[in-house]
Amino acid sequence: MLVLDLVRLDREGSGRVVGAIPMEDPRWEDSGFVFLGPVAVDLRATIAGSGELVLRGGVKAPIQQECRRCLEPVEAGLDTEIAMVFVPADTHEDGDDGEVRTFDAGAAELELSEPVREEILLSIDPYVVCDPECKGLCPKCGANLNTEVCDCVSSELDPRWDALRSLHRE
Ligand SMILES: [Zn+2]
Ligand SMILES: [Zn+2]
Repeated sequence: MLVLDLVRLDREGSGRVVGAIPMEDPRWEDSGFVFLGPVAVDLRATIAGSGELVLRGGVKAPIQQECRRCLEPVEAGLDTEIAMVFVPADTHEDGDDGEVRTFDAGAAELELSEPVREEILLSIDPYVVCDPECKGLCPKCGANLNTEVCDCVSSELDPRWDALRSLHRE
């Protein structure tokens, strides 16, 4: 659980949230990413002059994704900065902006697991490749062209190959 102590934040003017979201957290289930370990979260909280709560810090996790070309698993490290702003609920009129996060300034604490999860999912690059040179899958037979050679490519009528072939003939 990631919880910010609002009473302490109010007293000290700043706060810190250090914790982790477990890898087996049901929140990750339909994310499309596989977490190989817990997500470490370290955020600093401050109250801006306008009363807004600002949270800023880093999140880190080992994740496994699919190469977008060959679909092989790729281990990628997530290590990024996130920032979130919460507007006091009593100063915010519902309906002006669905994107605005609010918090109850009179509450003792603020639960952060869900907003942090949203930020993490937004910050993961879905377009990873196993290698910049990855040849991907054959669009015809599905062979992984990094490890197999199929016959489809040579019979492909790609104009670029025609140009090369004619060069060879001359
Ligand atoms: Zn690949
Ligand atoms: Zn093929």
